[in-house]
Amino acid sequence: MPGRSTIMPVISLSSVDSALSSLKTCHVSINTGIEVTTDVALALTEHEGNEEEVSKMENLMLDYVSMDRELEQFIQAVEDVTNQVKQERPEQLPDLKSLVDKRFNELKNLNKDEDLLKTDKYLHFKSQLNEMKKQVGAESQNENTSANEIDEDIAVTQSQRNFICPITQREMECPVKNKVCGHSYEEEAIIKIIQTKHKQRKKARCPVVGCDNGDVNQSDLSMDTTLRRAIEIHRRHQKR
Ligand SMILES: [Zn+2]
Repeated sequence: MPGRSTIMPVISLSSVDSALSSLKTCHVSINTGIEVTTDVALALTEHEGNEEEVSKMENLMLDYVSMDRELEQFIQAVEDVTNQVKQERPEQLPDLKSLVDKRFNELKNLNKDEDLLKTDKYLHFKSQLNEMKKQVGAESQNENTSANEIDEDIAVTQSQRNFICPITQREMECPVKNKVCGHSYEEEAIIKIIQTKHKQRKKARCPVVGCDNGDVNQSDLSMDTTLRRAIEIHRRHQKR
């Protein structure tokens, strides 16, 4: 019966075709998995989730990419075998399953793990992650700068009243700090007071109201660098 051997493979191969199309549905599921994993990884990065969680997503992505590769190779194996059978038109329908397995294994044996890192899907995923990291980095840098500026502003407002010399009642140019009582004054003004008092053979009182330091000496004074810097910053802000 010459018709039998030709018809049989055709029938069997059409069932292979329908199996193939259901495998391609599988492909869609994997792609959905890849999309969801990308979304989660991006959200984690955006909200600065810990590195560990992001790297779990990267591993999951590699799993999907690996599944994707094997599925493609299986589909490839089925197509190769079908084409081969269609071409050769053998008298007897061969064992399709073992042919597909054989071809699938041939293709799989060429697989290397590091190749997964070079696949388009993984590279696309990584580039999206990096883009997000850059964005988040730029934003947090902006936040830090403005936070610093706010801190600086608060510091300036808080110490602004300290910028005024208790003697001259003007903003200090060259503040010095009294290490005994901790008060600061314009250098020139406090030295003038000390010298005047000492000439009168009197002790110089700290001019700050309420301070009980009754003996201020030039050796107690040193440059108030902190206050000096604060005044400089304050002046820069005023110029803006
Ligand atoms: Zn004092």
